Amino acid sequence: DTSASSFKRVMLKISGEALMGDQGFGLHPPTVERIAKEVRSVHDMGVEICMVIGGGNIFRGLQGSAQGMERTTADYMGMLATVMNALAMQSALEAEGIHTRVISAITMNEVAEPYIRRRAVRHLEKKRVCIFAAGTGNPYFTTDTAATLRANEMSCEAIFKGTKVDGVYDKDPMKHDDAKRYDTVSYDDVLAKRLGVMDASAIALARDNNLPIIVFSLDEPGGFKGILAGEGTYTRVQG
Ligand code: UDP
Repeated sequence: DTSASSFKRVMLKISGEALMGDQGFGLHPPTVERIAKEVRSVHDMGVEICMVIGGGNIFRGLQGSAQGMERTTADYMGMLATVMNALAMQSALEAEGIHTRVISAITMNEVAEPYIRRRAVRHLEKKRVCIFAAGTGNPYFTTDTAATLRANEMSCEAIFKGTKVDGVYDKDPMKHDDAKRYDTVSYDDVLAKRLGVMDASAIALARDNNLPIIVFSLDEPGGFKGILAGEGTYTRVQG
């Protein structure tokens, strides 16, 4: 591939719901395959790729606790859900010919590698896609925070947050015709105006380490690659 990327190493964060297609629950393998192809096109540019995938298509701790489950147990179930999504993505990436490692924050050696920072860095240097699973390994966190944490640890230049819309708007663009998209927006404005990019702990962790968050549409074919090549519409959250 000839188009150059201005980024050498990035974190791609997607929600679990991005993998469920139109089903409303669970995994839709053709959708996972479509996203894997988007990742491959960026991998082909020589970019080193980290991924974090949520678990909301299977289980969310908060939902469980709202229905009477003990919160930390429900959160561990949510973390396990992210491992299933990570394995599905690994399978799809390997079908595209990309070497991939699933690295879990909760040790389960039969299905995934344990998280060892230097080892993960080495995988990236060897152009293996690293999928960080099981969130941070701690209850009361989200996979947005996990993505920010790992992006900092792996020295990623930015987090790419793939969503259903092409950036951050001043109000919900699905509900308001006059919603305005920001080209750039500060971390502090995201927090103060509750713009819903990521949860507050993730935004604060990105801000305190000057890690840009690029919000873009995962539904736009070629969108991920386009942004890395300097095209397309997106919002950049920065200092
Ligand atoms: N979770 C957690 N700690 C973490 C990451 C995730 O306890 O570090 C749990 C939490 O219950 C969360 C669930 O895993 O609801 C799934 O993650 P998330 O809600 O971030 O998934 P997404 O909304 O991105 O699909």
